[in-house]
Amino acid sequence: MLGKDVVFVCGSDTHGTPIVINAEERNMTPKELIKIYHRHFKEIFEKMSIEFDYYGSTDDYSNHHRTQEIVLELIRNGYVYSKTIPLAYCPVCDRFLPDRYVEGTCPYCGMEARGDECDQGCGRHLEPGEILNPRCKIDGAKAEYREQEHYFFRLSSFKEFLLRYLEDLKGTENALNYAREWVKRELKDWCISRNLDWGVKFPGRDDMVVYVWVDAPIGYISFTEEYAKRTGINWEEIWKEKSEIVHFIGLDIVYHHCIFWPAMLKGAGYTLPSAVVASGMVKIQDKTFSKSRGYVVWVEDDYLKEGFHPDYLRYYLVNYTSHQKDLNFSWKIFEDKVNNELVNTLGNFMYRVLHFTWKNFGRIPEVSVSSEIIKKIEEARKNVIESIESYEFKEASDAVMELASFGNSYFQHNKPWELIKSNLEKCQQVIKDCLQIVKALTILFYPVMPSSMKEIGDIIGIDTTSLKIEDVQVEISPLKLSRPSVPFKKIEKEKIIEMQEKLIRRIEKMGNTDTQEYVTLEDFQKMNIRIGKIIAAERIKGSSKLLKLEVDIGDEKRQIVAGFATSYRPEELIGELVPILVNMKPAKLMGVESQGMILAADVNGKPVLLKTEKEVPTGSIVR
Ligand SMILES: [Zn+2]
Ligand SMILES: [Zn+2]
Repeated sequence: MLGKDVVFVCGSDTHGTPIVINAEERNMTPKELIKIYHRHFKEIFEKMSIEFDYYGSTDDYSNHHRTQEIVLELIRNGYVYSKTIPLAYCPVCDRFLPDRYVEGTCPYCGMEARGDECDQGCGRHLEPGEILNPRCKIDGAKAEYREQEHYFFRLSSFKEFLLRYLEDLKGTENALNYAREWVKRELKDWCISRNLDWGVKFPGRDDMVVYVWVDAPIGYISFTEEYAKRTGINWEEIWKEKSEIVHFIGLDIVYHHCIFWPAMLKGAGYTLPSAVVASGMVKIQDKTFSKSRGYVVWVEDDYLKEGFHPDYLRYYLVNYTSHQKDLNFSWKIFEDKVNNELVNTLGNFMYRVLHFTWKNFGRIPEVSVSSEIIKKIEEARKNVIESIESYEFKEASDAVMELASFGNSYFQHNKPWELIKSNLEKCQQVIKDCLQIVKALTILFYPVMPSSMKEIGDIIGIDTTSLKIEDVQVEISPLKLSRPSVPFKKIEKEKIIEMQEKLIRRIEKMGNTDTQEYVTLEDFQKMNIRIGKIIAAERIKGSSKLLKLEVDIGDEKRQIVAGFATSYRPEELIGELVPILVNMKPAKLMGVESQGMILAADVNGKPVLLKTEKEVPTGSIVR
């Protein structure tokens, strides 16, 4: 709409150890799993009217090809060397432990960290071998270090380049400040090969893949190539010649986009990004977004299927706060934004003007728009452009909403419902002015709320498929109006309460104690909890979490499947006395029947056994 030629690409990041571990837990291949994810993401984007020119997958052939080309180019240009390094190795699994397969302590801040990043603490990327006290993620075993040859990218030789580059890089301050700080400190060479089957093969090595952070951003190039194939444009003009590349990312991947990625592009002779725009993190009801703790609102199940319009959430996301700040989603704020801003301000104005015109004139009056209104619209247009250029989408949408507020008071103040009886000419003038504001609002809000604005556009004769921002000043055509409908619908208080309760139930289910309700003694007595002795334990094939246990509960023996493999080896559990919920409804896990549930303490998602203070007979009741 600003008259720039834009290609908007995105895609699913499909490689790396999280996918492999997740697929293993679900008993499927990584390829099967990424297909499910990819289809899901694509569908959700479509349902939310998020339209990419191309939405690809990093496992597509074109991305394998482009990644190998770039790695080969880096090798030819002398930026890759091999070195033998000590790597975490699990003696139980008898294998090397790449990235997420190893957990331990961050050497920089001392927090719990994953193999390749300090996700809970300082957010740094960690190189293989850097993590302290390494443990195997699968069985919790203490990892040992073994030597192996790996490939390194000479990131250290890009220090001067990056310092200069980051001076000129545009985008949001949150991204740029972090990146500049990081580069000023020590810049280590970067290990870009991994002992995995899943991923893009390292050129010339069948036993290794490239690190996922090599092939993931290269997706931006290969998706552009795919788009070019479809449309006949030349992708090299975008990625090898002069163009403006802008990345929209989350704050947690600034390091990769501002440091690795530009160095890689520079080393292989590709166009460098001109801006990196990072958004803040998502919060749910003021708490950190977390699937495992239940602080999540699913777009499909909790929003679309509940009958909420995609445009309302789009407006919320854009208008809640500055793009760089954390985005808090709460149902109460949602209700407020929809009912006060969309319904009472924007929708009210548009509907009143259209309805009045339709009822009294049947068509758009043929008078010129007042210069005062032209000025007001021009002001809004300038504000919007300025805000968009500084990536402040809230400011842009506020400027449009302000124009709607102005329209409301202009209509109210001039009282066209009185003018129609006393001064028809003046009435037509006021209505024409208001209709021009409706047109400007429709165009300026189209990127935020496309389907609602298309409906208005259809009534007033605007083709929303080819909008230009200058059109806000093109006088609205004097056509006949059809009967308008209300553009936004008020959300009922009861619905919001229902949604809040749904969220609270989920949080409770995940074991958060701060929102829990009381249970009666009667409720508790429904549970038959007894002390049992673990007499046999073995791994369940295909699962990294589950163990099959046999327990003696006094008068009988039970088979129980428990998620203990992340904390204990099977042999460690034999002979332990543990509390068991024996009237738990039987269930099948990974095809194995479980006839009860062993109670344990949950420490950051890992089970810790509960034991009796002294030896007690098996079958003892817990109450
Ligand atoms: Zn292991
Ligand atoms: Zn750290």
